[in-house]
Amino acid sequence: MFKFFKKKRDKTVIKSEIIISDFNITVFKKDIKNLHLNILPPDGKVRVSAPKRMDDRSIRLFIMSKLPWIEKHVNRFKEQPRETQMEYVSGESHYFKGERYLLNVIEYDGKSAIKINNKGYIDFYVKDGTNSEQKKKVFLLWHREELTKELSGIFIKWQEIMGVSAKEWRIKQMKTKWGTCNTSAKRIWINLELVKKPVHCIEYIVVHELAHLIERNHNKRFTAVMDKFIPQWRNYKKELNGPLFKSYQ
Ligand SMILES: [Zn+2]
Repeated sequence: MFKFFKKKRDKTVIKSEIIISDFNITVFKKDIKNLHLNILPPDGKVRVSAPKRMDDRSIRLFIMSKLPWIEKHVNRFKEQPRETQMEYVSGESHYFKGERYLLNVIEYDGKSAIKINNKGYIDFYVKDGTNSEQKKKVFLLWHREELTKELSGIFIKWQEIMGVSAKEWRIKQMKTKWGTCNTSAKRIWINLELVKKPVHCIEYIVVHELAHLIERNHNKRFTAVMDKFIPQWRNYKKELNGPLFKSYQ
């Protein structure tokens, strides 16, 4: 019979805070061999894990040497507006076609369903014990169905007015764009997130993407097309463009 003797790991952790040029850095000293530097989501907190035997001066020097890197990555987190983590519980605010609704979760023993209740509520029927991840799936599916319905009418209307037609259009989840147009394939993608915005904003995006079938680039001719068909477009653009979407034309 063999016996293996393993050196017992020292599991104690010493936590401290170091402030270097406006950064509040949390340092964990533990039984490890190397230094680790992490920038943590969602707001870019800086964390350093260091070997126990390392003195504070060396840790400080290490952090100083990484300052440009830290700055760059922390700023990246700060630029991203945090999407509020939805839990899909009663009382939560949800936007739909530009209106704010309160969620009303109704647990029942049947198929999930979502209905707009005209009193300012979204009634969300779900089975008892459905977790937020499953609820989110149901919600996204509902968003997709509703946006598809809305877009079908909008595409028919504007393709006729503008005298162009897309070969196909689809809905996609996108991080930085409201819509895209592949002019050679004549394929338009619309961001699922638009379902939360007022209908005139959804129309503006469709007109913008269809305008690319007339003029590919964002030039004077493109602006003229937009001015002709949807003279209010600059206002709609302002309404839509938060920090996340500032690059959108
Ligand atoms: Zn464009």
